[in-house]
Amino acid sequence: MCLIDTHTHIYDHQFSLDRHDTIQRALDAGVKMMLLPNVDASTIAPMLDLHEHYPDCTRVMMGLQPEEVKEDYKAVLSMMEKELERNIYIGVGEVGLDFYWDATFERQQLNAFETQLDWAKQLGLPLSIHCRNAFDKMVRILEKKQDGGLRGIMHCFTGTAEEAKVYLELGFHLGLGGVTTYKNCGVKDFLPNLPLDKIVLETDAPYLAPVPCRGKRNEPAYLIHTAQHLAEILQMPLENFAAATAANAKALFKL
Ligand SMILES: [Zn+2]
Repeated sequence: MCLIDTHTHIYDHQFSLDRHDTIQRALDAGVKMMLLPNVDASTIAPMLDLHEHYPDCTRVMMGLQPEEVKEDYKAVLSMMEKELERNIYIGVGEVGLDFYWDATFERQQLNAFETQLDWAKQLGLPLSIHCRNAFDKMVRILEKKQDGGLRGIMHCFTGTAEEAKVYLELGFHLGLGGVTTYKNCGVKDFLPNLPLDKIVLETDAPYLAPVPCRGKRNEPAYLIHTAQHLAEILQMPLENFAAATAANAKALFKL
C-alpha cells in the first residue's frame, strides 16, 4: 500500500507528545509520504524541525494561510519570499481565501493570495489552495492569473459538481479529505464522474478526521479511512485507488 497525505500539519503542537508515534503509525498504515503546508511565521521553525528529523517521509511547502493574513502581512510575505529561495520547498502553500469567520482583512487576503500565486508561477511550484466561503472571488482570481503556469491542489474540496468542474477546467487537482466521509458531503454523488488523474488525498491533520474517527484529533494514519471510503464509491480495489492518487501527487509535486 502506498498513500500520500498531500496536506498535513503534524508539526502542530497537538502532536508534541506523540509526534514520533504519529509518524510511525502513518508509515505502518501505508502513508509513505506526508506533505507539510506552512500556516504563518510561527509555524516555519517547527515544520522545518520536523522535516529535518524525518527527511525521507516529509516534504515542506511555504506560504501564508489566509486566516493568518493580518495588518503585517506584507512583512510576513517578504520574509517568506526570502525563505523560498532556499530551494527546499516543493510547493507554495497553504494559500487562498477564507471569509468564513470574518472578512475584516478581505483586501489583504486577496492581495496576499495574488502575490503568492505569482511566486508559484515564477518558481514553477504547485500550490496548496485553501478556499472557504470565497468560491466566486477565488475563481475570479484564478481565471485572471492562470496563463498555463498555475497548477496545484484545491485542498479539502467539498464543493458541488459544478464547482469541481470549474477548478478542473482551470487546471487544478482536487484534494479529498475526511469531510468526504461525512454523510452530508455531496462529493460522493459525483465522484465517479471526476477524472481519477486529478484526485489526491489528504488529512488536514489535526483537523477534520474521517469517519469512524470523526471528532478526534486527525492524523495521517487515518488517511486509510478516507481512501477506503472513496475506493468503495468508485468500486475500485483500495490498493489501486491508493496507487493512482499517490501517482498523481508524485507527478504534481515531482516527488
Ligand atoms: Zn491546512
